[in-house]
Amino acid sequence: MSLVLVNGVIYSDRGREEAITIRNGRIVYVGSNEEALEIGGSRARIIDLRGSVVLPGIADAHVHLDELGLSNYILDLRGVKSIGELKERVKQARDEGRIMKGWILGRGWDQELFKERRLPTRDDIDQVCPDIPVLLIRVCGHVAVANTKALEVAGVMGKKVSPTAFEVDSKGIPTGVIFEDGIEVIMRKIPKMDVREKVEVISNALNTLASYGVTAVGFMSCTPDSFEALQILRKQGKLPIRVMVYFTSDMMKYLKRIGLRGGYGDDMLRIMGIKIFVDGSLGGRTAFLRRPYSDSNTRGVLRMSKAEIRSILEEAYSLDLQVAIHAIGDGAIVEALGAIEEAGLDGSHCRIEHASVVDEDIIKMMRKTNVIAVVQPHFIISDWWIVRRLGDDRARWAYAFRSMINAGIRVAFSTDAPVEPVNPWLTIYAAVTRGEMEGIELYKYTVSEKLSLEQALECYTSGSRIALGLREMKLRENALADLTIVDRDPYAVSTFDLKRIRNVATIVNGKVVHIAL
Ligand SMILES: [Zn+2]
Repeated sequence: MSLVLVNGVIYSDRGREEAITIRNGRIVYVGSNEEALEIGGSRARIIDLRGSVVLPGIADAHVHLDELGLSNYILDLRGVKSIGELKERVKQARDEGRIMKGWILGRGWDQELFKERRLPTRDDIDQVCPDIPVLLIRVCGHVAVANTKALEVAGVMGKKVSPTAFEVDSKGIPTGVIFEDGIEVIMRKIPKMDVREKVEVISNALNTLASYGVTAVGFMSCTPDSFEALQILRKQGKLPIRVMVYFTSDMMKYLKRIGLRGGYGDDMLRIMGIKIFVDGSLGGRTAFLRRPYSDSNTRGVLRMSKAEIRSILEEAYSLDLQVAIHAIGDGAIVEALGAIEEAGLDGSHCRIEHASVVDEDIIKMMRKTNVIAVVQPHFIISDWWIVRRLGDDRARWAYAFRSMINAGIRVAFSTDAPVEPVNPWLTIYAAVTRGEMEGIELYKYTVSEKLSLEQALECYTSGSRIALGLREMKLRENALADLTIVDRDPYAVSTFDLKRIRNVATIVNGKVVHIAL
């Protein structure tokens, strides 16, 4: 059966058209209403778009489906203004029984916003919740605070701990502030969900993405239980959007053992690669810089040497796995690019995730190695404190998307959801306006890095799809029918209204997976 979309605004290769006919997952016609209906035949499903605007399907190259799907159960702590408020939120969750598998979990706090101007500790949380384990992850995902109960359950209290994983006081006792691997240690103690629960969580995330017009995603740091849930959804025909899977790096040895290689799967669900971490975050001062932070004497944390990165890259390459390399600080990016160069690999098999702090030489090196930059424009607005942290000179090169594009680097867009909101129009808005309306300090340092709407959409459609190993997407005959349909014309609204654009329908592989027309 055909699907015919009429009375729309469609920017095709040939200019503005009004209708599309879709059959067997592909666009078979773009043009006039009459002809689209004619080609669709008498049994076609017809959707009257009533002036809605059809765009090539948006793809989000970097999301965490498991964490996104858990947002119903996890406290959203973004925007919390004090440690007092943080405690109040934990108390409320405890009173309301928002407890998952015996734990109270939260995410999104940022001590930069706290009026106390310090990190929360286990003592703070113990005051409102001494008996149920609590883990509250910072907005960046690389720093967290746990209460004493959680540290006890994890077997950390009274033991000698690594200070790079657990902050300790002068007596060597954990303060409850946890970094990087320490978060993993605690997380492992949270009981696993059963398969049915996991399917629900992943399905919840996918449907949320579809409702915002996202047609394909890269699922970062996927674990075996999430992959199982995805396969169940696929078999039930309940995968609304395309999912390209990037496993945690420890999975590589298992893939190798059973002979599973990158590319296995199909256009709806495919094993694409693995994700590795070279550094942490700017917010937690764990991103690795070449020179110390401007507001502290640390340079951050290099989690992997160049030699280690290189050996993972070589192994992944031999298994056809793409490597998504988390590198935020300029120091980490240089190490990653050096490893790619030394391994003699074509960087198009590698993605640099975030690539937040660069300079002209790093951009040249990125171009030379041919890596894909997978960036999150909404960080510009969320990381409002970045100038203080980097200083004037480096701030000029924070989130330098236009310079990357001008240098010929393939740039893909993403949200890192749930780190940033799923809504692609907030991402596009941030890339085009760079915090001008929000009074973001970085704006004046990086006005020249503003993207045009065309560039932003190109990054979010073709850019992201190429990063995910999918074909480029244009509205023309024979293209895959992945469409994002919105309520108003992004080319006709003011740039400041871009964030008000709403998705009204989403079509993936020729199927309507969301409609609110
Ligand atoms: Zn991420």
